[in-house]
Amino acid sequence: MKALITGLTGQDGAYLAKNLLEKGYKVFGGVRRISTPNFWRLEELKILNHPNLKIIDLDITDLSSCIRALNDCKPTELYNLAAQSFVAASFKQPLQTIEASGTSAINLLESIRITGVNCKFYQASTSEMFGSVVEVPQNEDTPFYPRSPYGFAKLMAHWGTINYRESYDFFASSGILFNHESPLRGIEFITRKITDGVAKIIKGKNDCLEIGNLDAKRDWGDAEDYVEGMRLILSAEKSDTFVLATGETHSIRDFLVKAFSCVDIKLVFEGTDLNEIGIDKKTNKTLVKINPKFYRPAEVDLLIGDPSKAKNVLGWKAITNIDKLVQKMINADLKRQS
Ligand code: NAP
Repeated sequence: MKALITGLTGQDGAYLAKNLLEKGYKVFGGVRRISTPNFWRLEELKILNHPNLKIIDLDITDLSSCIRALNDCKPTELYNLAAQSFVAASFKQPLQTIEASGTSAINLLESIRITGVNCKFYQASTSEMFGSVVEVPQNEDTPFYPRSPYGFAKLMAHWGTINYRESYDFFASSGILFNHESPLRGIEFITRKITDGVAKIIKGKNDCLEIGNLDAKRDWGDAEDYVEGMRLILSAEKSDTFVLATGETHSIRDFLVKAFSCVDIKLVFEGTDLNEIGIDKKTNKTLVKINPKFYRPAEVDLLIGDPSKAKNVLGWKAITNIDKLVQKMINADLKRQS
C-alpha cells in the first residue's frame, strides 16, 4: 500500500503517517515550502527518518504541484489533511482559507481525474460545517450551517468530494471529524493553549490564562483514535461519508477544570460575563481571566457527534476518554516546560 498524505507536518498528518508506517505502508508526505522546516511533530514521533517515509514538495493550492505529486507517487490512497485549519485565523484570512481548505480539495480531485491514478481519496471534513447546529447530536444526515470561513470552505471541499464520487465513480470518502486533540495539537488551539498555559503556570513561567468564550461546548476525542478512523474509512467496502466523534460534549470551562485538576488545583469560577474569573480554591489566586479578543465574530455553541454509523459500518469507536486525553496533554506540556 502506498499512501500520500497532504499536511504531513500537522497534528493528524504526523499521527496518520506513524499509524500507516506501522502497518507496513510506504508513505509519501506532502510538505509545502516554508522558510523554516516544521518537522517537530515527526521528530517527537520518531518517524522523520523512517525508511518508508518520503517527504515530497506539495502545495495543495497549486494544481500543477498536485498533478506532479500524483504522477510521481502513484499512491493507492490519498489522505487530504492539509488546510488552514484554525477557525479564528479564517475570519482574518477568509480568501486564503477558502484556497487552502476549500478549492485545494478540488485541485486534488481534479489531479486524480486528469492523471488517471487509481487511488482512494479521503477528505478531512469537520464538525465546524454543522456550525449553528440544527439538531443534536449531529450525524451524517444533519443539515449544515457553517459559521466561519473555515466552515464554509470545508463544506465546499466536502461537497466536492461527494460530487466527484457521484460524477466519476471515484472512491472518494469524507470523514466529518469532531474536535480531536493530542500533545501534538497546535498551540493556538484552545485545548493545547490551556494545557500549555497550565504547565507554564506550574513552572512559574506565567501567572494567568486569558480565554474567550468559556461556554462553547465541543466533542473532544484523541487524534490517535481518529487517524485510525481515517484509515478504516478508506478500507471500507464502498466510499461514503462518516462522522467520527465520541458522542460526549464538554465546555471549555469543564476542560479548564480538568486541566487544573491534573496538577492538583481545584479551579472555581466567580463573577459573570467579562468579569468572570477562575481562581485556585486553596490560594484564591486568579488563574483564568476572560479576554473578549478571543471571542469569535460568530460562535459555534454546541457540537456533539453521533458516531453510530462509523461504529456499525467500520467497527470504529473513540477509545480515549476526555480525562485521559487531558492528562496526556498536561503530562507532555509539563515535560516540555521543565
Ligand atoms: P493542522 O495541525 O493545522 O495541520 C494542517 C496541515 O496543513 C499542516 O501540515 C500545514 O502545513 C498544511 N498546509 C496548510 N496549507 C497548506 C498548503 N497550501 N499546502 C500544503 N500543506 C498545507 O491540522 P490538523 O489538526 O492536523 O487537522 C488535519 C485536517 O483535519 C485539517 O484539514 C483540518 O481542517 C481537519 N480537521 C481537524 C480537526 C481537529 O480537531 N484537529 C477536526 C476536523 C477536521 P505547515 O506545517 O506548513 O503549516
